[in-house]
Amino acid sequence: MIEMQDVWKDYPDGTHALREVNIKIDRNEFVYLVGPSGAGKSTFMKLIYREEKPTKGQIFVNGFHLGKLKQRKIPFVRRNIGVIFQDFRLLPKLTVYENVAFAMDVIEAPKKQIKRRTMEVLDLVKLKHKADSLPSQLSGGEQQRTAIARAIVNNPSVIIADEPTGNLDPETSNGIMHLLEEINFRGTTIVMATHNKEIVNNLRKRVVAIEGGTIVRDEQRGEYGYEV
Ligand code: ADP
Ligand code: ADP
Repeated sequence: MIEMQDVWKDYPDGTHALREVNIKIDRNEFVYLVGPSGAGKSTFMKLIYREEKPTKGQIFVNGFHLGKLKQRKIPFVRRNIGVIFQDFRLLPKLTVYENVAFAMDVIEAPKKQIKRRTMEVLDLVKLKHKADSLPSQLSGGEQQRTAIARAIVNNPSVIIADEPTGNLDPETSNGIMHLLEEINFRGTTIVMATHNKEIVNNLRKRVVAIEGGTIVRDEQRGEYGYEV
């Protein structure tokens, strides 16, 4: 499903962000990416959704060889990947409904389908009653649930989450984790970068640790492994 073969990433200013990364993530896995700040976690995830290109090496996502991808094929890869951020990144002037529906507009889904599917995912994240609210009228947890609804509305096979609980209190974070587990259970691969030791140690999953741009640990049902 996701595979990296000898992947290196240098940024134009000379920063070595990733070196010699080899990894395979199967369909339906749930992977925590851990490691110190600046280790290369965000870069690793940006390579998967083709926000950045590797300096060297091969990356395969859902059978697409990203290095050989024609520019016009990029949207096809991207629509198969939902992305969630620590700071939610909702459009402030659009309602909850519009923020989610917009992701389907972009891929030119039929109007009727947009309405049905948007309400379906808002129901799933328990936000139907807030469909007409603006992001500024929501709690942090509700904003993140809106972002999750937006991320799954086009039925992606992969969700990339960059510290999705970073701005949330522990109880709200647990709610977000249960939602991500439910989405994973329904058949979506999840790769989640996190500094949340409690979550990693309590909800055991595969743990991939990155330090200085390389994978230093890869364990099934692993531990967080760092002091906080
Ligand atoms: P993490 O997500 O683990 O904190 P990042 O992938 O963001 O790590 O960063 C890895 C390294 O690459 C860091 O040294 C960071 O400063 C650097 N870096 C990240 N993005 C850029 C960029 N656009 N240009 C130059 N250096 C970058
Ligand atoms: P099916 O397509 O087998 O009837 P679902 O309706 O549960 O299954 O999900 C359809 C697709 O939506 C899944 O294949 C998946 O990509 C995506 N998806 C994953 N999790 C959820 C979710 N929690 N709610 C809605 N869609 C989801």
